[in-house]
Amino acid sequence: MPDEETDLCSQIKALKEQLEYHKKQLEYHKENDVLTQIYNKSTFYRKTAELLQKRVNYIIICIDIEKFSFINALYGNKIGDEILHYLAGHLKNSLEGEAVIGRISGDIFAVCLEERQQKIFLENIFAIFAEAPLPMKLVPAIGICPAEKNTAVSFLCDWAIFALRSIKRNYFQHVAVFNDSVRGKMLEEQELLGIAEQALSDGEFKLYFQPKCNMNNGKIAGAEVLVRWWHPKKGMIMPGVFIPLFEKNGFIEKLDTHIWEKTVQWLKTRIASGENVVPISVNISRTDITNMDVYLVLTGLVEKYAVNPQLLELEITESAYIDKSEEIINLSAKLMDYGFIVLIDDFGSGYSSLNILKDIKANILKLDMRFLETENKKGKDIIQSVVYMGRWLNMIIITEGVEKQEQVDFLRKIGCTYAQGFFYHRPMEQSAFEELIGNPKSIDYAINNYLSDDNYMPIDISALIQENVLGSQLLEKIMGALAIYSYKDDKLHLQQTNEEYGRIIQDKGLGKNAETDIIHFLDKRTQEKIKQNMKKVLLENVPVDMIAALEKRDKSRYWFKIRLFTVAELYRRSFFYMSIFDVTESMGKFFDND
Ligand code: C2E
Ligand code: CA
Ligand code: CA
Repeated sequence: MPDEETDLCSQIKALKEQLEYHKKQLEYHKENDVLTQIYNKSTFYRKTAELLQKRVNYIIICIDIEKFSFINALYGNKIGDEILHYLAGHLKNSLEGEAVIGRISGDIFAVCLEERQQKIFLENIFAIFAEAPLPMKLVPAIGICPAEKNTAVSFLCDWAIFALRSIKRNYFQHVAVFNDSVRGKMLEEQELLGIAEQALSDGEFKLYFQPKCNMNNGKIAGAEVLVRWWHPKKGMIMPGVFIPLFEKNGFIEKLDTHIWEKTVQWLKTRIASGENVVPISVNISRTDITNMDVYLVLTGLVEKYAVNPQLLELEITESAYIDKSEEIINLSAKLMDYGFIVLIDDFGSGYSSLNILKDIKANILKLDMRFLETENKKGKDIIQSVVYMGRWLNMIIITEGVEKQEQVDFLRKIGCTYAQGFFYHRPMEQSAFEELIGNPKSIDYAINNYLSDDNYMPIDISALIQENVLGSQLLEKIMGALAIYSYKDDKLHLQQTNEEYGRIIQDKGLGKNAETDIIHFLDKRTQEKIKQNMKKVLLENVPVDMIAALEKRDKSRYWFKIRLFTVAELYRRSFFYMSIFDVTESMGKFFDND
């Protein structure tokens, strides 16, 4: 054969091989989830349906990651992705017998396996989660559904997920089985969803009012509107039952728009007939913010009824700031510019990271006493820190869930003025509330003068952090090990550290106290990288994460995850927070493999 021909032949062969390779790649991507390298949803459904044809008892297990959005917000999406990858790989490797595994949505894995493997696999799940390369404890929420041959796999998964939702965020229970009682609950929910629209037009959703009181005199400074569903047969249904459902199916936007309009109407009617009013707050659901133009709706309402926006207070839950932080930060700023009063509801409920909070502007912080007291004993310290910081900034703090005299005494002692809780009033019907504020002596006008005062300045949380008025307890709780550096003329100076930081320093034998600068133990390249990253943080105003290895003279090696973010610029110096997580045990292995 002439040379040219051989050449051509080998070229064609190479092209064919390439084509084959790309075909395989394409096939692979069609069937698998690129990020975790296990089956994607449709492949999982198909392979499971095939498996279920065998004469064996199978079950479906769905595994969700508790607080996954919190992990993404705190450590960054890259770490979030790595966690998904880690979990998928380890869960897959721990399967015994004939089994199928896939990722069926953002942070939900589904597994189909033989029933007799259930016990051991559950143990594996907990072990894998516990050993995840993350400084915080990773917890699964697990739903199990017995597999039926003739039911679509998508239904089986939905049922397993329904079971797991019933225990999501439950501190004590992490596994739920889809049984008759869960099925009953599901049907009940479906029934409620089916009749919601009709119930709204029949006027079954009623506004209840819960006063907010000045603890110095017990007078009413405002009220929160809370919805109640008066069902003709079932009686009163609480929002805790139906709000989460409506948030899932989108009906919440309709309901909230209705509640907001009724509230503005109420204000209008009272003002028009010369009766007393107080500012009224309404709740804004996080899904409202994603799915509708909240700004347009609210400004439209106050314009339609010609009501001063200062009378309408908007409660946005702190956890909403996590998922869509930028969107919500912008929205609340815009609403405040228009004249609405914005409250951060459930402030300090645990999802907060200072990192996010430092960008939020709001008028009022609402703390929940119940949460803070049950979660840990440090609750009182946290309340105290937040109240101090509020006082320092001339800010309004409202404590919610106040039930007992001793709580009132404590709050008054530390200088908190406003409270909402059963101690003063339970949520009440509109007529009862109108009667209550009918008497002008029952109203506390101080808060309103305060909010309309020109000297009044909305809370800027970055200022709090800069002055370190957020109590160290709060810092410990939210951030772990922390060091504050100032940075000027390309030099870093350690300013302050917290207890947890000191613990790491001592633990690793780096020094005797927390004044030791961990950066000195890192090699020159890593030190440079830290400086570069600080510049990046300054320029782009986003937190930057990095992994640093630390090698001691005795050759022992530790791994740290370092997160840098700015706190403030003061006296022409920049101040940085550097949070440090010891990830030696888990991350070491993880990153070596990479
Ligand atoms: P939230 O906004 O944190 O409202 C405060 C909840 O705490 C209310 O429960 C209130 O009745 C309760 N509460 C107030 N003081 C005390 C107290 O001293 N002790 C105890 N044990 N509870 C107290 P409720 O009315 O059941 O509402 C639950 C949640 O449902 C609300 O929590 C809010 O997130 C949501 N919600 C209520 N109404 C609406 C609404 O119209 N729209 C939206 N999107 N969500 C709503
Ligand atoms: Ca609220
Ligand atoms: Ca609340």
